[in-house]
Amino acid sequence: MSYISVSSTVNKFLRWRYLSLPQGDLCQITYVWIKDKSNEVCSKTRTVDSEPKGIADIPEWEFAYRTERSVGERLLVPVCMFRDPFLLDPNKLVLCEVFEHTREPAESNHRNSCNKVLELVKELRPWFGMEQEYTLLGVDGHPYGWPRLGFPKPQGPYYCGVGADNAFGRDIVECHFKACLYAGIKISGTNAETMPSQWEFQVGPCEGIEMGDQLWMSRFLLHRVCEDFGVLATLDPKPMEGDWNGAGCHINVSTVHTRGEGGIEHIEHAIEKLRKRHVEHIRVYDPHGGEDNKRRLTGLHATSSIHDFSAGVADRGASVRIPRLVAQDKYGYFEDRRPAANCDPYVVICAIARTCMLENNV
Ligand code: ADP
Ligand code: MN
Ligand code: MN
Ligand code: MN
Ligand code: MN
Repeated sequence: MSYISVSSTVNKFLRWRYLSLPQGDLCQITYVWIKDKSNEVCSKTRTVDSEPKGIADIPEWEFAYRTERSVGERLLVPVCMFRDPFLLDPNKLVLCEVFEHTREPAESNHRNSCNKVLELVKELRPWFGMEQEYTLLGVDGHPYGWPRLGFPKPQGPYYCGVGADNAFGRDIVECHFKACLYAGIKISGTNAETMPSQWEFQVGPCEGIEMGDQLWMSRFLLHRVCEDFGVLATLDPKPMEGDWNGAGCHINVSTVHTRGEGGIEHIEHAIEKLRKRHVEHIRVYDPHGGEDNKRRLTGLHATSSIHDFSAGVADRGASVRIPRLVAQDKYGYFEDRRPAANCDPYVVICAIARTCMLENNV
């Protein structure tokens, strides 16, 4: 596949002249939503009369929903608001839930059902932290900066690597980090990953549904920053076959119980519950029923086999890892390493809350 990078080739310096024009009391609101099962994000922008003070001030909106057979209307219901790092203050980004015109949640709206489960466990104060891995691609669809013919030198020096021969695309990573901070994303860090052109950022810890909201908005920011630079970010969990690492979205989980003294017992209990429902979890840890993760969870490249559940202290080849410091302190959190980079965080959180928290209060 090949793309033409139109947006990135215009004179970006000129942009500043227009961005600094006064806009009076008017405010630009960019609505962001999840398109469909493809887990892509979309956006469109409108003007409102004054700066919204909270999410309740932002009106619902409609968009044209195209299927193969028809064009219908769907409803955008704003659920959380961020500062806009592209159009700048006082302009806003709002994440929306999508509804049918009947006010039923659209089939891509997994936030709605996730929220219902999280409501039931909210006394547990569940915290999540997600590690979003992704791969930069050039406009030709080939990993960014890889030779057109042949391959870069083998994996080894790239993870947390520094230097022109090791780090491919750091400008994009750093600009995305800044954009997240400005917007109000609880981004907690970034690092270069094991495969060249592959990177990671972490969001969290976030309590409850906020985890999904923040991760989705951070993904929007990533694609939008990449647009400016004329590159693509893919969340495909295994963009390159062969001896190249795939991309995951590890999820770190804790509750008031696991964080308290002796919390390790609650962690071990949660892990036993996850073990029993391995197959169910694999089915929802990517948007295609486990098909995407089949390519990634091979048991090689710091992954566990998709067919087996395993857990261990400091074991990065396990399905679930207890961090070494957590084992030492005997309280804290655990890491489920199975979710694919292209997972829907709402679906993953919902499954974990159901399995580990709904009964038995882990
Ligand atoms: P790794 O060693 O797996 O690469 P990272 O440093 O990339 O770990 O990510 C750790 C993640 O764990 C971060 O997203 C952070 O927000 C999250 N985290 C830390 N403490 C907790 C906690 N108590 N509950 C849930 N998540 C947590
Ligand atoms: Mn139109
Ligand atoms: Mn990490
Ligand atoms: Mn990683
Ligand atoms: Mn991790």
